[in-house]
Amino acid sequence: MGWQKQVLRVNLTKKTVAIEPLNMEWAMSYIGSRGLGSKYLMEEIDPKVDALAPGNKIIFATGPLTGTLAPTGGRHTVITKGALTGAITCSNSGGKWSAELKMAGYDLLIVEGKASSPVYLLIRNDEVEILPADDLWGTSVWHTEPTLQKRHDPQAKVASIGEAGEYGCRFACIVNDLHRAAGRSGVGAVMGSKNLKAIVVRGTKGVPSYDGRRFMEEARAATTALLESQSAIDMGLDLSLTDNLTAHGTIMMINITNAFGSLPTRNNRAVQFEGAWDISDEAQAERLPDGHVNLIKNSACFSCPIGCGRVSHVHPEHYSVKDRPEYQIASGGLEFEAAYALGSMCGVDDIDAATFAGFMANEHGMDPISLGASIAAAMELFEEGVITTEDTGGVELTFGNARALCQISEMVGKGEGFGKVIGLGSRRLCEKYGRPEFSMSVKGQEFAGYDARAQQGMGLAYATSNRGACHMRANVYDLDFADTGIADKAETVKKSQDRMAAVDSTGMCLFPEEIGLDASYIVTMVDAACGGDWTMEKFVESGERTFNLERQFNLAAGFTMADDTLPKRILETPAPSGTAKGLVNRLPEMLPEYYGLRGWSDEGRPTDKTLSRLDL
Ligand code: SF4
Repeated sequence: MGWQKQVLRVNLTKKTVAIEPLNMEWAMSYIGSRGLGSKYLMEEIDPKVDALAPGNKIIFATGPLTGTLAPTGGRHTVITKGALTGAITCSNSGGKWSAELKMAGYDLLIVEGKASSPVYLLIRNDEVEILPADDLWGTSVWHTEPTLQKRHDPQAKVASIGEAGEYGCRFACIVNDLHRAAGRSGVGAVMGSKNLKAIVVRGTKGVPSYDGRRFMEEARAATTALLESQSAIDMGLDLSLTDNLTAHGTIMMINITNAFGSLPTRNNRAVQFEGAWDISDEAQAERLPDGHVNLIKNSACFSCPIGCGRVSHVHPEHYSVKDRPEYQIASGGLEFEAAYALGSMCGVDDIDAATFAGFMANEHGMDPISLGASIAAAMELFEEGVITTEDTGGVELTFGNARALCQISEMVGKGEGFGKVIGLGSRRLCEKYGRPEFSMSVKGQEFAGYDARAQQGMGLAYATSNRGACHMRANVYDLDFADTGIADKAETVKKSQDRMAAVDSTGMCLFPEEIGLDASYIVTMVDAACGGDWTMEKFVESGERTFNLERQFNLAAGFTMADDTLPKRILETPAPSGTAKGLVNRLPEMLPEYYGLRGWSDEGRPTDKTLSRLDL
């Protein structure tokens, strides 16, 4: 079986540790990771609980393909009620930590309650300890991780929070392997609210398969298919999408979205950025006259043949790191989402400044998307005179001010001065100053790097995503780039939301399927790993079940169809340039069709018939 069939439950209030059998009936229905973790959360907490109260739980969930040779089979999901949104969230991360947890023998780690003082977990296969973390509290991820590896085992993998998670920054994340993160929705703040600083894991067990020989054959076939993906060559590009991701990383999307007119710029006041090239993959890899190159190499998560990760360094003479040798290092470089949020969204065209701000996100444990977009919202408040240097502690928060970006990112990470106010996230920040319309968010979570006036389908995906605005919940890129209208968008969004929920539940990364690996390869691997006669229909239905379960959680938490919306700017102010010049997002036309396709009522509630069809 691809599952270890074990759940590790840690109660921090009672200081207890228990190993329980996995509910196999649920595993067969929800696969693992996102789906299975969501099912456990739904069964175990009151959806109305405060996200930062001890009654919330935080679940680290692997999937049946985590820790296997399935291509990109090295992911885990963190499921909880999000601190940023108050909605159910599942925040996905790769690196090496996920596989280590699986190899320690666990499908799920459920953390409940709250420790009376800072602690960390040490997991060595069946041996689990809750240890004091007073000496680590108040320190960064970059201090915590090597300290714990040195203390226990250099081979151990560490997931931890920085100061941001400790002080309750609403978009704090959980970083593993120094620069991989369960980034979105404030899962780091939930971990911090439990006084849990880190989880150290060393796992040396194997991962069982229902049919090991067949699984190896299927995994090899999927890897070959992925590497030979021809979709981009068919589109006239000289490399496959897989090779493009390896060579250029996701940051290659900067020039593509900018040319199309969907690159959010200066808090979505514009959709094209005059400085786009300067924060693009080309600029990242360009050699400057003095020989400096921002990009050092690419990096890969466990069992990934793509390696889309970027490793970069800031020019040692750049003001952000000059005289600070601790930052003159190679670390996680800009991916597309960080480049948009810390670049064009703030009007900043200095790749070194954006890279430094990205370092701050990794070091102190913040989601770079929400960090950049919240700073951009603050910049708009500043430009409009709603806040002044008296509020910001002297920081001139104007669009394009790269020095201010560097300074304020560090302040947010450490919870210093006005940085702590930005740490509320853009919605709470803008509400505090009476201008909620400046928050470019859905359900309180900030947009990804796609303006929804040019990308209509992405707008629908943002509005209906259960964890708030997100680009990893529906794959509607091809259709959006081909057509700025709304034909077929509702159906494409609905179908891909279900498929992606299923893929997310396997423990594989979403990128292979997004860039052209036929999902049938994934179904076949799940079937060989788990048994149970998995077909495409059953697989997609499992994703649909998960999506509806998440919806049920949110409805019980108090969300309504009024939350399936977009900011006024996207719905009422036409795009000023680009392919969609003059267009607004047509969500009100797409939403009723979408609800109908989902089998939901006009108010966006799953009908009894839908719930019964999905066994919910
Ligand atoms: S494609 Fe990128 S994010 Fe996905 S597993 Fe590979 S390296 Fe990690």
